[in-house]
Amino acid sequence: MKIKEYAFLIRTQTDNKGIESLRMKQNRFVRAISLLIQFAVRNGFEITFGDAHAKNGHMTDSLHYSRLAIDLNIFKGGIYLKHGSDYEVLGHYWEKLGGSWGGRFGDGCHFSLAHDGRR
Ligand SMILES: [Zn+2]
Repeated sequence: MKIKEYAFLIRTQTDNKGIESLRMKQNRFVRAISLLIQFAVRNGFEITFGDAHAKNGHMTDSLHYSRLAIDLNIFKGGIYLKHGSDYEVLGHYWEKLGGSWGGRFGDGCHFSLAHDGRR
């Protein structure tokens, strides 16, 4: 699955002033996550959802509060993968989509779109 073929799914939308609103970015996040999930499935991973939007339970200023992050439970062959290094390929793909991968800071299951200096 070539990212180029799906560029329309991760294209940044802007208003008439060239600004990507938070809602537009939240929507881009969902579109990009759909690609990540398909990529994971095609590569033999099984995914279940962890927290996406949350009202509490995450660090201060977490992107979960802004609908720009999701935690995924990732399995292969029925085995839960505890370490980001076990599914680094997903993190790298996510970064190619323009995302920020928590595997860079010890939270491999966390996939987000950086916003206002947060990731
Ligand atoms: Zn998270």
